[in-house]
Amino acid sequence: MNFPAIAKQTYDLLKGQQAFSNISAFIILHLKKISSPTERAKFVHNVVDEFNREVFAHPLVKELSGCKAGCTGCCHTQVSITEDEAELLARIVNDGLKIDRAQLQKQMNAGNKSEDFYKLSYESRKCVFLGSNNLCLVYEDRPSVCRTNAVLGDSSQCSTENGYDEKKTLRLVKTSQSDMAIIGSFQVSNNSGTLALMLGKILLKSSVKKEIFQKKKSISNDFEL
Ligand code: SF4
Repeated sequence: MNFPAIAKQTYDLLKGQQAFSNISAFIILHLKKISSPTERAKFVHNVVDEFNREVFAHPLVKELSGCKAGCTGCCHTQVSITEDEAELLARIVNDGLKIDRAQLQKQMNAGNKSEDFYKLSYESRKCVFLGSNNLCLVYEDRPSVCRTNAVLGDSSQCSTENGYDEKKTLRLVKTSQSDMAIIGSFQVSNNSGTLALMLGKILLKSSVKKEIFQKKKSISNDFEL
């Protein structure tokens, strides 16, 4: 199980406090009642947005945070997602959104370990959903991790263009509640990992299914002839 590092730190710090552990428990309980993976992903995204809404809308945060549309710092880092989130993203791709499959493969080859991911060049680490205008192509359905963690100060401090420094600490604006919700969703997920690896696996599964379906169809057409 690959937990998002920042949310996991919050979880480890607050899991002993009932008010916070209840949030993870609430998420787990609700997700077990929803049968559709894409609906489960959307449910978690709504909860995370709700917890962050007030703080992100605060005029001081707007003034002091460097996070703005067009900044792509986070989009060259390793993003952890749940299997449900991967299903949601795969559905968008299967519905016709074009992504750079060669780029996805490179990132898949790096696996789940961050040290291998950060050996890739900066360009190769670019998320496959980052559009040519530097905007997220799946903004409404972006993963939980992409919905939280606004940085205080200049956004250039998030850049990993000159390599990733795991000791560098950023001052982040987020809510502990949203982190507890995110960890709840990862705890109940069948699987989780990097965006590339999880998405790639599901796309592969759906293309195999499509191929089998087409083969069966062509066999039954042969029999009809
Ligand atoms: S899903 Fe969107 S916001 Fe998240 S890393 Fe990719 S491009 Fe950036």
